Amino acid sequence: MKIICIGRNYSDHAKEMKAEIPTEPVFFMKPDTSILKDGNDFYFPEFTNDLHFECELVVKIEKNGKNISEKFAHKYYSKYSLGIDFTARDLQSECKEKGLPWEKAKAFEHSAPISNIWIDKSEFQDQIEFDFFQNDQLKQKGDSKDMLFSIDQIISYISKYITLKTGDLIFTGTPAGVGPVQIGDTLKGVLNGKVMFTFKIK
Ligand code: MG
Repeated sequence: MKIICIGRNYSDHAKEMKAEIPTEPVFFMKPDTSILKDGNDFYFPEFTNDLHFECELVVKIEKNGKNISEKFAHKYYSKYSLGIDFTARDLQSECKEKGLPWEKAKAFEHSAPISNIWIDKSEFQDQIEFDFFQNDQLKQKGDSKDMLFSIDQIISYISKYITLKTGDLIFTGTPAGVGPVQIGDTLKGVLNGKVMFTFKIK
């Protein structure tokens, strides 16, 4: 399986990163080794001094498809979860400055913690809301209606370039409020009122 992440999918986050608002989805990938299942601690990597959380709504692809039209994209997923796109912001800034790919900053071991819980689409109305807490302080508030590109648009767009397969995960981008984590922090993600993950930085 593969993990595809959308960058700059909320305009308020693009602004805080001083990045341009994209006119088409921006995506990058993480390997399957970046997954950290909820319940496991995350160990702060030695190669960064500025590790940022980016809490994101995640969808799991449930059948293979390429060139999926937006109209049919909803048939390719039925559940939502919540995860973190950990980012070594210092390495990412270096890569950006040099015009290099971001993988070093984004695709490292356990850079994609994800909840073990999946919630059926039918349990949501039009809107999907999530909250992210660092040491019980609310840091990020996400609302799917603020996404620049909807999940269906994202699936359609990615599948023009890459075949999506059963089990692939899509991290759909982060809202504003990203920030650094420290050893000792406890991170918690809540989706529509339900605690989805909680783990410690060691
Ligand atoms: Mg992200």
